[in-house]
Amino acid sequence: MTEKILLGLIVFLVFVLVIVLGIFSYMLFKMFQKQNFISESTETKNYHDDARLKIEQFKNEYAEKQNQNFCVDHSELPAQGNCSISDEAYCELCLTKQDDFKIARKYLNLYLDSKWQELGIYHLEDLGADRLNEILKMKKSIWQKEQVPVLGQRQFKINVEHDKVEEYLCIKVREQDFERTQSLIQKII
Ligand SMILES: [Zn+2]
Repeated sequence: MTEKILLGLIVFLVFVLVIVLGIFSYMLFKMFQKQNFISESTETKNYHDDARLKIEQFKNEYAEKQNQNFCVDHSELPAQGNCSISDEAYCELCLTKQDDFKIARKYLNLYLDSKWQELGIYHLEDLGADRLNEILKMKKSIWQKEQVPVLGQRQFKINVEHDKVEEYLCIKVREQDFERTQSLIQKII
């Protein structure tokens, strides 16, 4: 009788053990599956980030290549900016900075020997893109045809009331060119 009870108890314990082990392995399996899923999705995300980064890099490089002009006097050297007098692109060796204007060395004497007068400061928003382009075109043509230098400079002012940055174009000319350029600009604006 005692033997039978003992045997029953052992069978019962083995049964319980099997169930506990079963539940345990099932939980382990589920946990493993979940972890796998998480690492897989992280990998996918990383892959997307990598791809996006590469696309951005490519875009930036492409834009740089597009913008990369070369000096008009040194075809092998990249341009560092445009001369405020001639509008042509020049390299670091050819450009100087005078009172916030970039001036090519070959026009430095012209800049330093002239007396410059401010013709006007125009708010770009009021001026509009078309009239701005007209002014820049006039500036270029008067320089190329008559060697009359007109300095154009973008200036930025902070509008505190509207919390925005406003862009202005400041035009400077030589004393002797003042009236002529003034009448040309007045025709445009
Ligand atoms: Zn150069």
